[in-house]
Amino acid sequence: MPLLAQETDLLSLPAPLLAFLAIWFFAVGGCIGSFLNVVIYRWPRGQSIVSPPSRCPRCGAGIRTRHNLPVVGWLLLRGRCYDCQAPISARYPIVEFLVGLLFLLLALQSLLPGGPWWLLNEPWRGLPESQWPCLAIAYSYYQTLNVTLIAAAYIAWDRQRVPWKLYALALLLGLVAPLFWNEVRPGGVTPQHGWEAARLGLWHGAQGALVGGVLGFGFDFVRRVKMRTGEVPGRLEPALVTCGLMLGWSAVLIIAAASAVLSLLWLLVTARRWAGACSAPLVGVALATIGLTLCGRLFWEAWQPVASGHPVIVLVGGGGLLMLSAVLQRALSPLPPPHTSE
Ligand SMILES: [Zn+2]
Repeated sequence: MPLLAQETDLLSLPAPLLAFLAIWFFAVGGCIGSFLNVVIYRWPRGQSIVSPPSRCPRCGAGIRTRHNLPVVGWLLLRGRCYDCQAPISARYPIVEFLVGLLFLLLALQSLLPGGPWWLLNEPWRGLPESQWPCLAIAYSYYQTLNVTLIAAAYIAWDRQRVPWKLYALALLLGLVAPLFWNEVRPGGVTPQHGWEAARLGLWHGAQGALVGGVLGFGFDFVRRVKMRTGEVPGRLEPALVTCGLMLGWSAVLIIAAASAVLSLLWLLVTARRWAGACSAPLVGVALATIGLTLCGRLFWEAWQPVASGHPVIVLVGGGGLLMLSAVLQRALSPLPPPHTSE
């Protein structure tokens, strides 16, 4: 007997079980957020993310296990080092809280009636029990992408170079998972024949990665002329290649267009500060992807017929919007401060 039988509504579960599930998903997300903090700080600086264990950057004292608990640890310490009272940035618990919340929300979205929005062809209620592992795979698939983009946005915000290896796990999942189960991509269909499924999985992934790569390359190229650094901080190209491979071309187009609008607004709101200029497009990509993951169904049902009906018009329009945003951002961006001219 499965935990949730087909006809069982999630909300009809006993309240304590529901609360336990909610806390569990939030806690798992919080722990991953905690690990993400380590990745965000150490990877761009060429340090190992495994050792040494977390230490206070001022006095060097090791962080005790109970103070390492996501969010709770920071609250227990009231935002100060236990040993030397040096302040600890509120950003750490904020990242942990946000990733915890994201894990909880996607679990609710996937398990509530109606089910995961990307399974448009088969209503979730009608899926056989054997599809439960698929739901777990899809959940991990989308969260890997979301978490990767959150880390990339924060690294760019710190004006650090986002390493390609940050995207490695998401790229690997985007390449391999659809070979076996193409429906993991929004609107994907898995035919009965195994080889045909693998061919479709590869083909849709290649289309998405190509569209994402061209859009990202064009955007970075236009922005770089003004920034005059060897490499644009917070490059879009790897992020959009990853989104395209994992979600397909019509989703990456929407993400790029949403990012274009969001980053332009952000640049205006932050009074054109350099950190905002660096990271705004990547922050936009992360927000658009999370938004699409959490509440894409309504939007997707309207968008997908348009995208597949008029692919050329949609591609030219979306690409044009992104390039227009890049030109405007280039005009609005401040020049880099002298000390980051490497
Ligand atoms: Zn200390």
